[in-house]
Amino acid sequence: MPTVQAPARGWHSEAARSLCAEYGTEDPARAILAAAALLVAESGLKRPAQNLDLLASLQDILGIERIVMSDAGRLLPTPRGLVVQVNAGDTAGRQNFSACHEISHTLVPSYCAAPGARVDATTGMYGEDREEEFFCDLGASELLMPSAEFGDALAARGLTVAAISPLAEEFGASLEAAAIKCIRVAAAPAGVIVWEPKLKPTQIRDVSAPCLFGPDEIPGPPEKLRIKFACCGAGLKGHFFPRDKSIDDESLIQRSYNEGWVVCGEQELPTGRGPAAFYTESQAFDFRRGEGWERKVITLFFPAGGAAAG
Ligand SMILES: [Zn+2]
Repeated sequence: MPTVQAPARGWHSEAARSLCAEYGTEDPARAILAAAALLVAESGLKRPAQNLDLLASLQDILGIERIVMSDAGRLLPTPRGLVVQVNAGDTAGRQNFSACHEISHTLVPSYCAAPGARVDATTGMYGEDREEEFFCDLGASELLMPSAEFGDALAARGLTVAAISPLAEEFGASLEAAAIKCIRVAAAPAGVIVWEPKLKPTQIRDVSAPCLFGPDEIPGPPEKLRIKFACCGAGLKGHFFPRDKSIDDESLIQRSYNEGWVVCGEQELPTGRGPAAFYTESQAFDFRRGEGWERKVITLFFPAGGAAAG
């Protein structure tokens, strides 16, 4: 009789417990990745974005509806069965990721035992403290960008910042999701940071506070490029990049933002333990936001002294 595994210390949810028991591991993250890989294998799809309805149907989901709503995604029980809804206003890559996140809920045995509504204001940004949601983000990444297929495609192109956009396109993923996947499957020690122009959280509070003077009389503080999120792959795990830390105006990252293209070279980055030098490759991208566009920079970084490895 197989041994029923319990989650390693640090995981507390019923979702973690049920995943570990089902897949015979004490690592629920590994379990959800295995579950997602099995589903992709069952579908026979090499690029699952080409037929997410097939993945959904294999999980007894009636369909994927694209509707106007404020949430990124929802999984809803109806009298006829489960339905996935994604935000029609999101980019195709984000819709695909949200659909895969909702499908991933059905890979969690504790969800299947008591299926209820799941409403995700956003997907792809859950931390480990929201255990079921975090597992579903991991599952979504594996469903949309199967590691073996993605690893082959990445190896063919080489790990450079210029590879992110074609890989995102090929797998029907967002640039940010594809960038994180590159770091997770890469053999070389590497990390990714996404920068966006914004005020410091304390400045946002100051600007929104009531003021006797109009914005023309006292101009607000200028926005700076700040860390939206960072992800370190194996080999750079000791590093931590605090959210909202800024980079100075003379940096290669700012140059990439200003010029709108790829800028490479050694650059100090703001880690949790102070500035540290890395070899960086930064590319500016214009992202759709509502009716307009906003520019962000994606930086791949590698240990200083060594250029990007394949
Ligand atoms: Zn969710």
